[in-house]
Amino acid sequence: MAKIFCIANQKGGVGKTTTTVNLAAGLARIGQRVLMVDLDPQGNATMGSGVDKRKLELTVYDVLLESASVTEARVRSEKCGYDVLGANRELAGAEVELVDVERRERRLRQALAQVDTSYDFILVDCPPSLSMLTLNGLCCAHGVIVPMQCEYFALEGLTDLVNTIKQVHANLNKDLQIIGLLRVMYDPRITLQQQVSEQLKSHFKEKVFDTVIPRNVRLAEAPSYGLPGVVFDPAARGSQAFMEFAQEMVERIRKM
Ligand code: ADP
Ligand code: MG
Repeated sequence: MAKIFCIANQKGGVGKTTTTVNLAAGLARIGQRVLMVDLDPQGNATMGSGVDKRKLELTVYDVLLESASVTEARVRSEKCGYDVLGANRELAGAEVELVDVERRERRLRQALAQVDTSYDFILVDCPPSLSMLTLNGLCCAHGVIVPMQCEYFALEGLTDLVNTIKQVHANLNKDLQIIGLLRVMYDPRITLQQQVSEQLKSHFKEKVFDTVIPRNVRLAEAPSYGLPGVVFDPAARGSQAFMEFAQEMVERIRKM
């Protein structure tokens, strides 16, 4: 049975996509069977996995509209070692097209049930909003991974996400929990970041992952080569940190 994790934070540019593709690649490198689902119409996680979003005939959009199954729409990223259920601009229309559909927030959950035994991990890259697309991600997940930068406003934004997760847990998905907060783009030389990091740990305790992802230029360069940093430059500090994070995730799910 696959463990499904959403990578979510309603803020943009906080490292969701970078976390998704690098965790997927890191898990694949240690022998885990991984499906990466791109739920963002920007399609960055698709492109960042070496899959050209403009050339896809079927995407997660077709899956949400039930005009294709996951097995029909997924593609293999040979370079990255995991499967991709891709997205492109078309996905932006799904919100409107599903407006009158009953149980529309459960479409992804239903679709993924078909491939439940084919993977160890399914990672869902969410868009920067608490929209119906994100809701589909939260409805199918066992847990949420929240990447965050250790900045002053980071904590403020977290309240809305935590409340949404509580509501989904209460009404739609009893399995859902925050698996952990992942500190990303971390620069230990900046005092404020150290302080926020300490605050996070004292407030959220074991919900904060031990692994810290440093700010690392190789991670930022990798998407322009259509690769996760872990594949593009495995020796880079940022890539090493994501490999460590993959290991930490494997250990966490053993305890779940
Ligand atoms: P989101 O998906 O939340 O919008 P991204 O993962 O696309 O965020 O990251 C936003 C930007 O920050 C991207 O340009 C990405 O390459 C860069 N970035 C993400 N994580 C790191 C990191 N650890 N070090 C350096 N740059 C990073
Ligand atoms: Mg993104």
